[in-house]
Amino acid sequence: MKKIIISNWKLNGNINFINKYIKKIKIYLKNSNYKISIAPPIIYLYYMSKLLKKNKYISLTSQNTDIHINGAYTGETSINMIKDINVKYVIIGHSERKKYHYENNKNILKKIILTKKKNIIPILCIGENIKEYKKNKSIEICKKQINYIIKKKNIKILENIIIAYEPIWSIGTGKNANIDHINKIHNSIKKYIYSLNKKIYNKFKIIYGGSVNYKNFKDIISQKNVDGLLIGNSSLNIKEFINIINN
Ligand code: PEP
Repeated sequence: MKKIIISNWKLNGNINFINKYIKKIKIYLKNSNYKISIAPPIIYLYYMSKLLKKNKYISLTSQNTDIHINGAYTGETSINMIKDINVKYVIIGHSERKKYHYENNKNILKKIILTKKKNIIPILCIGENIKEYKKNKSIEICKKQINYIIKKKNIKILENIIIAYEPIWSIGTGKNANIDHINKIHNSIKKYIYSLNKKIYNKFKIIYGGSVNYKNFKDIISQKNVDGLLIGNSSLNIKEFINIINN
C-alpha cells in the first residue's frame, strides 16, 4: 500500500502558481511511490478540481470545514460544498487554526463527525507544544487529544480516519522531530488504539508533519509506523516537492 503525502499550502498560492505547480508535478505523479494530495486555500479547490480533471494519481484536501452545513455564517465553507467538488480529505484541528481561529476540541469533534458523514476522510491533527515536549509529556498530550474524541463518541469515530502527529514546536520552524521521537509517539498511539479495539487499529493511519523537507523526508516516511507525511513549507517549493514525490 502506498504511503500518503499531503501538501498543505496554508495561505499561499494563486492561479499562476497553481498552473505552474500542476504542470510541473503532473509528470511525476503516475510513477510516484506515494499517494499525493494537495491542500490549496479553499477558494482554489474548485479550480484545481477542474484542472486535474479527476486525475487518478492525485487528490484534493481541504484545509478546513465549518461546523455548520448552511446558514448565516459569513466567510465559512460547509462540508456539503467541499463534497460537491470531490475532495478526498479534510484537515481538522491544525495547530494554526487552534492558535489563530480559536478552534477547540468541541468544534474539532463536530467537524470530524460531519466530514465522516460525507465519506470524506478527516485528517485529525494532534501534537504537543514545546513546554510539554520538554517535560516529556508528548504521549500524554496526544492521548488526551485522542481521548476527547473517543469519549464523546466512541472508538468507532477513529475508523478510517488519519491522525497527523504534528508537534507544534516543529511546525514551520525548520526543526523536525527526530526519528526516535516520531517512532515513540507513533508506536504508542498505535499500541493504544490496538489496546482499545483491534478492528479500528487496522482501519486508521498515522502520518507525521513538522518541518519535513527533501533532506529528511526519506528517513521519516520509511519508518514502519509512519503511514505518510503532511508537508507545509517545503511542499510550496516545486523543485523540492518534486524531489520528494519522485523519490
Ligand atoms: C503543516 O502545515 O502541517 C506543517 C507540517 O508545516 P511545515 O511542514 O511547514 O512545518
